[in-house]
Amino acid sequence: MVISGPCSAETREQVLETARGLSDVGIDYFRAGIWKPRTRPGDFEGIGDIGISWMCEVRETYGLKIATEVAKAEHVELALKNKFDMIWIGARSTVNPFTVQEIAECLQGTGIKVMVKNPVNPDLKLWIGAIERILKAGITDVSAIHRGFSVYEKTRYRNDPNWQIPIDLKQELPDIPLMCDPSHIGGRAHLLLPLAQKAMDLNYDGLMIESHVNPTLAWTDAKQQITPQELKQLLQSLTIRNRAEIDEDAMIAFREQLTLTDESLIQLLKNRMRISEQIGKFKKDKNHVILQSNRWEEALRKNVMKASSEGIPEEFVTQLFKLIHQDSIRIQSEILSQNEND
Ligand code: PEP
Ligand code: MN
Repeated sequence: MVISGPCSAETREQVLETARGLSDVGIDYFRAGIWKPRTRPGDFEGIGDIGISWMCEVRETYGLKIATEVAKAEHVELALKNKFDMIWIGARSTVNPFTVQEIAECLQGTGIKVMVKNPVNPDLKLWIGAIERILKAGITDVSAIHRGFSVYEKTRYRNDPNWQIPIDLKQELPDIPLMCDPSHIGGRAHLLLPLAQKAMDLNYDGLMIESHVNPTLAWTDAKQQITPQELKQLLQSLTIRNRAEIDEDAMIAFREQLTLTDESLIQLLKNRMRISEQIGKFKKDKNHVILQSNRWEEALRKNVMKASSEGIPEEFVTQLFKLIHQDSIRIQSEILSQNEND
């Protein structure tokens, strides 16, 4: 499924021209923000109610389904009154249970399609909670949109993708379709294709990508918007893989190998924990402190070096050994405190 259209509805011409461009791209929903949640006051806060009539004109002229972002009851009422086909809750609204509840109550008894963007902060429970509020209002057609998460440091992305969170969401809510919004993750047009491809490879159900008839002149999110023609090319260059469960013999054999390897890993961890226990007892007998920073740093450095030379990424082994070390300290502290209590 593809949702596309400008970040914001700006003028009647811009909305209709963008829709005209998109009308032969084969999108499922035409999107445009009518009320925009902006970080700073004084930035363009959306064209407001007049934008609704332009969206309705898009539907009449090009037969496209229309969608917009809602952030309060009044927006929902206007979207319902004008028969929008889909509404979404933006990242800045998903963070606030009062806002989501207000929207949910307004939706009660309607059959509109609703999408819930992830909250700006990396909080899986908040995202799930917002989806649950909409489901509880009786809405059955609910999807989630992954648009990335805020981080303080500057990174190559506008919003950190943190793929683990949508993967966890899919585990917890397997029946909720999952969309990816590479525009707000990437923040720049050249990042859209690799992000969209990754979402497809992870078996997402669709994409929301911002598109504008003249991106460089866009009033909001200019750097991340692409023209309808560019969207068409992007969609054509995506590799869409087979989504069916694999049950071929070769795959079954690979899975067995993985299971055996995981079992060996568990055994190795258990052995390592036993050694930590013995060290704990020894240190207790000799009345030694648990943490010997120099030794630990030296061991970590050597392990990371060895692992890197085997082609295992440094970041990964560092994290892994830190976790293992943390647990070794836990085991040794437990032994010391047991003895103190005796
Ligand atoms: C948008 O879709 O234009 C938007 C404001 O998105 P988000 O809520 O993800 O920031
Ligand atoms: Mn935007």
